[in-house]
Amino acid sequence: MPEAKSSKPTSPGKRSPNCLECDLVWKEYALATRNHLDAILAKEGSKQTDDIEKMKILEDAAFEAARRRALARKAVWDHAATHAGDIPEAQE
Ligand SMILES: [Zn+2]
Repeated sequence: MPEAKSSKPTSPGKRSPNCLECDLVWKEYALATRNHLDAILAKEGSKQTDDIEKMKILEDAAFEAARRRALARKAVWDHAATHAGDIPEAQE
């Protein structure tokens, strides 16, 4: 199912255009976000069935995906903070 590609995660801070690390943490965050959404969809889908076992597994998977997403988000924030002082606000 097509996910809206234009909707970007809320930017926690300035992204430095020439920083590979920024690129990396943002990519990982985007990936973790997508995995989380997929996990939620799978979990919701399993509710249509009576497969309790599968529901449990998917629920755990969704929980884990949420945790990873939060970690990835924190990595973005933490990394962005290292730039906070050295990026002029006006430049883009
Ligand atoms: Zn950076």
